[in-house]
Amino acid sequence: MTDRLYYTDSYQTEFDATVRELTRRDGRPAVVLDRSAFYPTSGGQPNDLGTLYVEAAGRQTFEVVDVVAGDGVVYHLLDAPPGLLADLPVGSRLQGVIDWPRRYDHMQQHSGQHLLSQVFARRFEFETVSVHFGAEESTLDLDAATVDAAQLEEAEAAANDLVYANLPITAYFVDAREIGRVPLRRPPAVGGQIRIVEIAGFDYSACGGTHVHTSAEIGPVKLIRQERRRGQTRVTFLCGKRALADYSRKHRLLTQTAALYSTDVGQVPGLVARSLEQVKELQHRVDELTARQLAYTAQELLAAAQPIGGNRVVTALVDLPVDAVKTLANLLQAEPHTIALLGSAAGGKATAVFARSAGATPHMGHLLRAALGALGGGGGGRPEFAQGGGVPVEKLDELLQIAQRDLRAAS
Ligand SMILES: [Zn+2]
Repeated sequence: MTDRLYYTDSYQTEFDATVRELTRRDGRPAVVLDRSAFYPTSGGQPNDLGTLYVEAAGRQTFEVVDVVAGDGVVYHLLDAPPGLLADLPVGSRLQGVIDWPRRYDHMQQHSGQHLLSQVFARRFEFETVSVHFGAEESTLDLDAATVDAAQLEEAEAAANDLVYANLPITAYFVDAREIGRVPLRRPPAVGGQIRIVEIAGFDYSACGGTHVHTSAEIGPVKLIRQERRRGQTRVTFLCGKRALADYSRKHRLLTQTAALYSTDVGQVPGLVARSLEQVKELQHRVDELTARQLAYTAQELLAAAQPIGGNRVVTALVDLPVDAVKTLANLLQAEPHTIALLGSAAGGKATAVFARSAGATPHMGHLLRAALGALGGGGGGRPEFAQGGGVPVEKLDELLQIAQRDLRAAS
């Protein structure tokens, strides 16, 4: 058995201990101690990190990279080659120090979760069915198909009022005979001695986790998101310094956005909505002008077309994006007895689009494949429309000349 110091004092950050066992867990060297302040991952709360060091060995230090519980003991997984463990023989004394900012953050999230779960239970009879404490956000799953925005707002406000009420938070053990007298929010998952975490008179939970001394230390409680999950509702929340950091980040982002609009933050949603409306109108106008410009370009190209085998053949490198090249080809093929051999280097990539009027010959897909094949590219298409590429941009002109030559040869 490892004496778990965090059960009685979750604020203890340093401790002395004796090595009881050296073993391996999850492929790493692991140390079992007679007592430890390190919290192992359990009950949704992530493990502590920290350091073990041996003063006698010239302050040899070992980084604790994971902590797991099993068989009644706590395993401290170390970032150390197995040979180094020769400095930690069974029976040797060492000191441990936990990463306090990480632990305190977990304490704020965990106590905040107990508070929120009881608020949801009392106000709306929404029971918490599972919790998860993540590295950045934490969640609780409520047995409620829907939770509306007003309920979330009410729960958040109530939780923050309880923070200001500065309620003591204590932990104690009760045995099976006494457990019936504790108004637990949920029945305990384990038997025997049950550890109760109580938020004075407000919430009683069977919990092995680490908690702050008073509700005030939970700090700000912020619900940031909700989503429906298989008939339940997952609420994402932040407590303490995480909530404050989230506020700071969002304040900075919103202030930067307001500065872009030379306004104050309250005007941002309206201005962004108006900007989006303007962008839509402008896009519509750009589409109209582009269509007119392409129609004009098509007429210009037709005027310079060469007669080959009864068709007007347009051969041109155009400075247009691929979509516009295709539209231009469509405009040209709508003209009678017309073949369009178009190339574009848009985006630094060679694209060829060949098209012809209905009833004209030859097969555009075959014509394009043959021309591209001569230059090492690939592509093809239907009898009346084909697209391809894969050749260097500087070969585009040669590609069009090959296709034009083939057209003449076929006529
Ligand atoms: Zn808990």
